[in-house]
Amino acid sequence: MERKEVNINEVSPMMREYLKTKSEYEDVILFYRLGDFYEMFFDDALTVSHELELTLTGKNAGLSERVPMCGVPHHSANIYIGKLLERGFKVAICEQVEDPKNAKGIVKREVVQVVSPGTITNTDLTNEKDNNYIASLIDYKYVYVLSYADILTGKIYTTYISRNDDKLISYLINLNIKELIVMNDFDKELKYSLKNNYNIFISTFDNLDSYNNKDIFFNISDDKLIRCTTLLLNYLEYSQRHVLEHLQRVEYVDSKLFLELDKECIRNLELVETLKNKDRVNSLLWFMDKTKTAMGSRLLKSYIISPSVDKDEIIRRQDLCKKLIEEFLIKSELSDLLYEIYDLERLTGKVSCGNVNAHDLIQLKNSIKVLPNINIILEKLELPLLEEFKELYELLDSSISESAGVTVKEGGIIKDGFNEEVDELRSIRKNGKDFISKFESEERERTGIKNLKIGYNKVFGYYIEISKGQLSSIKEEFNYERKQTISNCERFITPLLKEKENMILGAEERVNNLEYDLFCFIKDEIKKYIPSLQNVSAKIAYYDVIQSFASVAEANRFVRPIINNDNVIEIIEGRHPVVESVISSEYIPNDIIMDSNTNILIITGPNMSGKSTYMRELGIIVILNQIGSFVPAKKASLPIFDKIFTRIGASDDLTQGDSTFMVEMKESANALNNATENSLILFDELGRGTSTYDGMSLAGSIIEYISKKVKCKTLFSTHYHELTDMENMFSSIKNVHVSIDEKDGEITFLHKVMPGAVDKSYGINVAKLAGLPSTVIKRADELLLSYESKDDSKNVKVKQFELDFSETQDELREYIKTINPYEVTPIEAINILAEIKNKS
Ligand code: ADP
Repeated sequence: MERKEVNINEVSPMMREYLKTKSEYEDVILFYRLGDFYEMFFDDALTVSHELELTLTGKNAGLSERVPMCGVPHHSANIYIGKLLERGFKVAICEQVEDPKNAKGIVKREVVQVVSPGTITNTDLTNEKDNNYIASLIDYKYVYVLSYADILTGKIYTTYISRNDDKLISYLINLNIKELIVMNDFDKELKYSLKNNYNIFISTFDNLDSYNNKDIFFNISDDKLIRCTTLLLNYLEYSQRHVLEHLQRVEYVDSKLFLELDKECIRNLELVETLKNKDRVNSLLWFMDKTKTAMGSRLLKSYIISPSVDKDEIIRRQDLCKKLIEEFLIKSELSDLLYEIYDLERLTGKVSCGNVNAHDLIQLKNSIKVLPNINIILEKLELPLLEEFKELYELLDSSISESAGVTVKEGGIIKDGFNEEVDELRSIRKNGKDFISKFESEERERTGIKNLKIGYNKVFGYYIEISKGQLSSIKEEFNYERKQTISNCERFITPLLKEKENMILGAEERVNNLEYDLFCFIKDEIKKYIPSLQNVSAKIAYYDVIQSFASVAEANRFVRPIINNDNVIEIIEGRHPVVESVISSEYIPNDIIMDSNTNILIITGPNMSGKSTYMRELGIIVILNQIGSFVPAKKASLPIFDKIFTRIGASDDLTQGDSTFMVEMKESANALNNATENSLILFDELGRGTSTYDGMSLAGSIIEYISKKVKCKTLFSTHYHELTDMENMFSSIKNVHVSIDEKDGEITFLHKVMPGAVDKSYGINVAKLAGLPSTVIKRADELLLSYESKDDSKNVKVKQFELDFSETQDELREYIKTINPYEVTPIEAINILAEIKNKS
C-alpha cells in the first residue's frame, strides 16, 4: 500500500498525525516513537526493513489493509541510525513530548532532531580523533565560498576557494567533509560527482533567512562569507530543532596563511591514512600522535593537513617544544595530567545539543579538577594560566552522584545533601520500603502463614503472595483482597499495603521528576561557561600537541630545524620516520642538499632502490617543519614553502573515466600552472604512462619548464637516463642516484643517495629478485643485448619465435638444486617428492 494513495481522513488518529509529520520530512526516514519503539511505516518501513534486514510487519490503521510497519527498540536505536547514515540516509527522530499519562487523546509528538552524516551529536557514532565536518557551499561563478562546522565542538570556519573544481575537491577531501549543503540551483554535474566519486553526502537546502545570533559573525564582515555561513547555520538549526548555544564565532580561514597541499599530496605522503588500506596506522598522523586528549589529537590532524606558512607561529611552537624537551620531568608531569582530561570541547557541544547525561557531567567535573595542577606546570613554564572554573567544579561536585546511571529520567543522579526536597522524598521512599520489609515478617506472624511473601511488579504494584497449599489459612479478618492467580499461588493486597505503596511510588515519581529538573538546571548553569570552557579546551589541545611533538622528537632523535630565507634545503642524514619505524632492516639516512641555485634534483636508480621514499622523506620533513615540529634528521635547514605538489606512485583517482596517463598529466598541469617559486614539486617517474619517446620528451620539457619558468625546488625521479644530460645544460639541475651493489648480476639495494647519475636501469636484475622464472630472465637479457646492439627488430622477432621456454624443466632443476638430501627428514622427503610431482 502506497502512502500517497491513503486518504488521511480514513485512517486512525495516530496514523493521521504520523502522515502529517511525514509530509514535512519527505526525503528523510522518520523514526516515530510509539512506547518503547521507534516505528516506521509505508515506504520508510519497506526501505529500512530491506536495508537493515528487519522484519516487516503491519499495523492496523483503520484501513482495509494493514499498513507496512517495522520498528527498532528505542534503547538500541543508535546502532540502527548509525547503519542508516552509513548507507546514505537521513533520519528524523520524532519523540513523545508529553507524558502519556497526562495526555488527553493522542500523545503529542514532535521531531526533535534530524540526523545526517554531518550533524551527528551522539558521540558513540563518531570518531573522537576526527572532526565531523558539515559544510555549505555557494558558487559565485568566479569564486566558491565554503563554510564548515563541527557541530560537537562548535567550531565554524569560512573561506574563499578559487573557482577551480580540483581545488574545491582537494579542500573537501582534505577536511574529510561528511556532508555538503548546496542550494537548489547548484551545478548538477558537480553535485553528482561529489556524491558518487567522492562519497560526500549532499543535502539541498535554500534557507538564507538572516541568522538570529549576530555575534557569531563578530569577526566577519564580508557579505558572501556571511551568506554562505548563514545557509550552514540555518541548516544546523533545522536539523537540531533548537538554537545551538555552543557555536563559536565564525573564523575566516585565509588560505595564504597555510601551506597548500593538493589532495594527492595528503594521499601520496600518507599523511593521515595509508595508501593501501586507508588505515590510520602507519600514517604520519599515527606516528606523530602521542597526544593525551581527543582535542589534541584533532588539532594535530588539522595541523598536518594545513601546515602553517607563518614563520613566527612555527617558531613559537618549536620554542615550546624545545622547552618541554629540556624540562623533561615537567613535560612528563604535564602529559600525565593531560591524560586525565576528557573531551571538554565535545562535552560542551553535548551540553548544548541536549544529549548529555550524568556520566558526561562527571567527566566534565573530573577534567576541571585537573586544571589547577596544570596551572602549576604552566607557571613553571612561564606560560599564561588557564581559567580554573572553581564554582562550576563545586556545583558539579556537590550535585552529581558518581554512581548515576546513563538515563536522566530515572533518578539516582543527584547526590544526597544537594537538595532538601530530594532528600525528604528519598527518606519517605526509604521509610516506605523499610515498612514493607517489616510488614512481611509482621504478616507472617499475624497470619501464621510461614511462607507468606511480599512481592512487587510494575502492573500490580506491591502484593502478598500465598502458596496454593496455604490458601485455606486465610481468614476474613485478614482483610485480604485477591488480585491475581498464578500457577502455584495467589496474590493479595490490603488497604494498608496499598497506602504504603502509593506513598513509595508517589515519592519515587516525584523524586525522579525533581532530579530531572535539577539536572536540567545544572545543565543550564554549565551553558553559561561554554565559551570559557571552549577557550580552555583550545589551549589544552595546543599544549597537548606540543607535548606530543616533544615526546616524538625525544623518542626518535628528531632535531629542531632552522628556517632560512635563502631558498636553501640542507638536510643531513634525513629519515622517513614512518618507513624507519616499520621496516625490519636498518634505515639508511640520506642527505638532501639543494643550494639556492639548485632547483631540480633528477633522481635515478633501479626500482625498489628508494627513490620514492627519498622524495616522500623531503615532503614529510617540510610538513613537519611547517607544523612546528622537530624533524627526523641530524641537521636540517629549510625555507618556508607555500604549496606542495606531488605525483608519486599510481593514482587511484580513476573514477571519472580518465586513464592513468591522463590523471598524471592533469596533476602535472595543475602543478605547473599553480606552483610559485616558493613551492615544492615531487614528481616520481613522470611520463612513464606512454611510449618511451613520448614520455621522455614530456618529462624533459617539464623539467626545462620548471627550471626556466617556475623555478621552484623539485625532485624528479626517472628511468630515462637520457634526462640526466640536462645537468650539463642547466645550472639549476643536479643529478643524484640511489646506489646499489652489483656482483655477478646479483644486486643489493644500498638505499644510499649519491651525487651523479646511473646509466643502467637494472630492471631485469630486480625482476630476478622478484622471482620471475629464470627462462624469462635469461631471455630478457638476450633481448636487451639485441636492443642495445641495435639489432633490427625482425631479427629479434625471429629469436622470439625460436625460443624454447622449457620453463617447467628449469624451475624443477632450480628447485632440486635447493634440496640437501642429507638434511631432510623422511617426512620432508615425501613432501618434496609430492612437490616435484606437482611441478612436473
Ligand atoms: P623506488 O621508488 O626506487 O622503487 P621505494 O622508495 O619504493 O623505491 O623503496 C622501496 C623499499 O626500499 C621501501 O619500501 C623501503 O622498505 C626500502 N627503502 C627505501 N629507502 C630506504 C632507506 N633509506 N633505508 C632503508 N630502506 C629503504
